[in-house]
Amino acid sequence: MTRAYATDEQYERWYMTECCRCGRRRHKAGTWPDGYVCRTCSDRAVRTRGTCPGCGQDRALPGLRPGDGVPICTTCAGFSRTFDCSRCGFEGKLLGGRLCERCALSDRLTALLDDGTGRIRPALVPLFNLLVAMDKPSSELAWLAMRRSQPTNASRLLQQLGLGQISLTHDAFHGLQPRRTAAHLEELLMTSGVLPTVDKYLCSFQRWLPGHLASITDPEHVKTIRLFATWRVLPRLRARAERSHITPSVRRFAAEQIKYATAFLQWLGQRNNSRAGQPARPDHLSALLNEAGIPAAAARGAAIRQQLLELPAPVVADALGYHNKTTSRLVRETGGTWSRHAAGDHTRSPTSRPPREAGDS
Ligand SMILES: [Zn+2]
Ligand SMILES: [Zn+2]
Ligand SMILES: [Zn+2]
Repeated sequence: MTRAYATDEQYERWYMTECCRCGRRRHKAGTWPDGYVCRTCSDRAVRTRGTCPGCGQDRALPGLRPGDGVPICTTCAGFSRTFDCSRCGFEGKLLGGRLCERCALSDRLTALLDDGTGRIRPALVPLFNLLVAMDKPSSELAWLAMRRSQPTNASRLLQQLGLGQISLTHDAFHGLQPRRTAAHLEELLMTSGVLPTVDKYLCSFQRWLPGHLASITDPEHVKTIRLFATWRVLPRLRARAERSHITPSVRRFAAEQIKYATAFLQWLGQRNNSRAGQPARPDHLSALLNEAGIPAAAARGAAIRQQLLELPAPVVADALGYHNKTTSRLVRETGGTWSRHAAGDHTRSPTSRPPREAGDS
């Protein structure tokens, strides 16, 4: 950066001064009746609202009454400037073009949600209305400015929504990055009625799944786990969401089922490789379970035992997930695999007992 000032000292003299409110040496943001103010103190002062003790009007109170320092309005304090928005007249912090935060937010959203024809994409008008009506437009502006230098951020997602590059379905949101931003946006779209309301933990599971699938190296395992999730885990979560609602522990349990199944598949794969060349036996799975230290007796009752021997591997792992001892043994057996898959989850130890879901075992 090239400075047009002869010396740092000159720059200091012209632009820096001691703030009359906080006493720190800062850039001058304004000259008020009680002295120079810095940006921080100016913003804080114009946010102060109430009934002015001088004139009885309800408005912003950035001034200080001489003597006792009670907040008063700009008129009573004798300000030489106003803080009225040049568009809507709201008195508060002013941004570029002397616009208040809400008007600035409105302009920013109008530009971002443009469908390419100079208007907000009609389907997104409810989202626009929700966002501009929020209590703190400053928070929304900060959200839009987040991760500015990154390839994806809230502004970019809104832009893509406006241009129709992201379809208005829950599925479209589950693969989007950054995940937290996509999740927040999905919630806003539900609140504004653009997307149908679905359980937030169901959403959270569906957002988690693609990342987990991407972490599996064997494409055959990816297919199996995807099927397992689609036909076994998700229908149960949906049924649960319809009956009541999904709790955080039910959501975690669903992810653990997927992780157990993945670890189990990997373990089976390694076993099969080391047995290459040997003839396949009809009781293969049963033998494998025994080798893994999981006697069929670990399952209670003949019906479950039968299932253990007949169901596909991920479903077996699912069933094993209900039994703490066999599960932790399985976890030990699959050691490296397991800890790699569980690495992202620091909230629980991988061997902790998955919550038993009432009426589901
Ligand atoms: Zn200050
Ligand atoms: Zn007043
Ligand atoms: Zn305004």
